[in-house]
Amino acid sequence: MNAHSQTPAASAPAPLIDPFGRAVSYVRVSVTDRCDFRCVYCMSEHMTFLPRKDLLTLEELDRLCAAFIARGTKKLRITGGEPLVRHDVMKLFRALSRHLVSGALEELTVTTNGSQLARFAQELADCGVKRINVSLDTLDPARFRTLTRTGDLARVMAGIDAARAAGLKVKLNAVALKGVNEDEFVSLVRFAHDRGMDMTFIEVMPLGELDGPARVDQYLPMSSVRDRLAEAFTLTEIDYRTGGPARYMRTEETGGRVGFITPLTHNFCESCNRVRVTCTGTLFMCLGQEDAADLRAPLRESADDALLHAAIEAAIRRKPKGHDFVIDRATQAPSVARHMSTTGG
Ligand code: SAM
Ligand code: SF4
Repeated sequence: MNAHSQTPAASAPAPLIDPFGRAVSYVRVSVTDRCDFRCVYCMSEHMTFLPRKDLLTLEELDRLCAAFIARGTKKLRITGGEPLVRHDVMKLFRALSRHLVSGALEELTVTTNGSQLARFAQELADCGVKRINVSLDTLDPARFRTLTRTGDLARVMAGIDAARAAGLKVKLNAVALKGVNEDEFVSLVRFAHDRGMDMTFIEVMPLGELDGPARVDQYLPMSSVRDRLAEAFTLTEIDYRTGGPARYMRTEETGGRVGFITPLTHNFCESCNRVRVTCTGTLFMCLGQEDAADLRAPLRESADDALLHAAIEAAIRRKPKGHDFVIDRATQAPSVARHMSTTGG
């Protein structure tokens, strides 16, 4: 699978630095827009998914990742849609593991809904994956079914157990939803910390049109999450970073970490080191902006990677300073029309 993965000497690897001096060292790659769940804040009930021909093949995804790694990407996160429902996705993980072996890549991770983890956890660990993020918004099976529309909580729990048994470090992510899982923040933290897992809460972001409840009705600022947790725990600021946008606190009672991701109320753009690539090879330089670059055409136009490198360089030169998400009563439409499952979380 790595026939094309060498960088030609002519365009030899300079790191990718954007106009604001930030080095791009973290790439999130969405390998599919499909998913076995239909989470109410992420997808509408009846989604139209992309035709297969539009998707990058696993070989193209491998080439693309190799090109970024050659230019200084140290951390690669595979996401989706649900990455583990992509047919033969383990082929891609096996191929990418060569960059961990060579030391060019420091970390290969995955964000998953956990539904397929019981099947794939051991193989992921064998490919050198050390940490994974599992999305879990509730511990209540009926609520889980309502939130995901199709999901089975027991299956996700079995997946989390399998991941831990395989030695993967698991971080749980929950989207904080007003009136939906507010009453579970404390129990989610206890559940995670009892098992040695970090727990991170995410503010709902205005991505994609939904047929469910209006965003403004789902939105809960992180300060409310913290207030809720502070009723049960003593939270202490800590200086822990994982290369992502989360800010962490320690819960003194459990000794565990709680992360907060606040894309709307806190601007974390100044330290942004990452870009995202969709499953069709569209490079988004910022999650919150529409500007994008097509990498599929250069990938398909030539077996040599020179065109691909030129397209990546040109795109990084346009990486914006920051995003401008808005959720308020006056702005009911999403700031960005694409769904989270297109860009990847
Ligand atoms: N299917 C995988 C999963 O659920 O973990 C990976 C893709 S999913 C799009 C990545 C993350 O984005 C999940 O943690 C999900 O909860 C989060 N997410 C989806 N839509 C969101 C939204 N509108 N606002 C905030 N987070 C969102
Ligand atoms: Fe699927 Fe993840 Fe979106 Fe839920 S959040 S619908 S699991 S892609």
